[in-house]
Amino acid sequence: MQTVKDSKSEATHRAELLDGAAIANEIKLEVAREVEQLVAQHQVKPCLAAVRVSDDAASAVYVRNKIRACEEVGIRSEHHALSAKITLIELLDLITSLNQRGDVDGILVQLPLPEEIEEAQIIEAIAPEKDVDAFHPVNVGRLAMGRPTFVPCTPAGIIELLDRSNIPISGVNACVVGRSQIVGRPTAQLLLQRDATVTICHSRTRDLPAVTREADILVVAIGRPGFIGREHIKPGATVIDVGMNKVTDEATARKLFGGDVEKRLEIISKRGYTLVGDVNPAEADEVAGKRTPVPGGVGLLTVARIRRGVETVKSEG
Ligand code: NAP
Repeated sequence: MQTVKDSKSEATHRAELLDGAAIANEIKLEVAREVEQLVAQHQVKPCLAAVRVSDDAASAVYVRNKIRACEEVGIRSEHHALSAKITLIELLDLITSLNQRGDVDGILVQLPLPEEIEEAQIIEAIAPEKDVDAFHPVNVGRLAMGRPTFVPCTPAGIIELLDRSNIPISGVNACVVGRSQIVGRPTAQLLLQRDATVTICHSRTRDLPAVTREADILVVAIGRPGFIGREHIKPGATVIDVGMNKVTDEATARKLFGGDVEKRLEIISKRGYTLVGDVNPAEADEVAGKRTPVPGGVGLLTVARIRRGVETVKSEG
């Protein structure tokens, strides 16, 4: 918790920011060392195959970042960029061949896929032992049983962030807002495994603020810019903001960014948008003890954990 002086020189509370960049860098150095040892011991480099279907610009950026992240630590990668016109059979054939190849350790299919292709069918075609995203039902089941092999990257990154920031998990009230397969549910499972008392909220939750205000650790993954405000947050809580939303207009920016608004308005005028999470940062700063910034928080940890996933396949294989 930090105390800062406002314009009237009165002490005002401001949440401490959890530094995703520093922690992601720590993980990067550890994985690079582990990959180096693997190469020295077995003379082989782990390899990630990333599959992208469609020309969606955001997907292209995500895949590029993941590939770059792997390369930085000595993990080889292949980028299979496919046309949105690919048939289900052709995509399944590619997955089968990647499953069979001994020189491919991890397979990652960037979602969303085009509407005509059923995502579940593709996810279930990936060999569970190469499923670094951990979306295959075998890996989802193993996680639910408390015996995970792989863990989805964003939830794994959240736990790393809490651990490396010395935030206790065991015994605390943790609330996860959002129940998606890729963030909300697996995050709740991991917190439960670490002995938190876990509540999961979603769009049908009654009186959301009353529930979230019980949480010592509040994780928010709903995809609604700045939705979680001061009324949702227990004083002193740790708030983990998973959301990634674009803000393009000045009025919204003014509601969200408090004292940091001028910097954000400058970014909007240069780039056309600035990023905000699902938590209103200005209001969270008034109440929370610690919070993750957006950008600079959970997103960086997600990428860091992808490298760890690929390296794990190779070292255990
Ligand atoms: P999603 O699949 O769209 O799921 C959203 C969840 O939020 C749903 O469970 C929904 O409830 C719940 N929800 C929506 N509105 C709500 C409300 N008003 N009150 C309570 N719950 C509400 O989202 P996602 O894929 O988990 O992603 C969530 C956010 O995280 C997005 O902004 C996404 O861009 C971001 N994200 C970031 C990273 C990263 O690396 N930082 C990774 C993945 C996702 P129902 O189930 O009842 O519909």
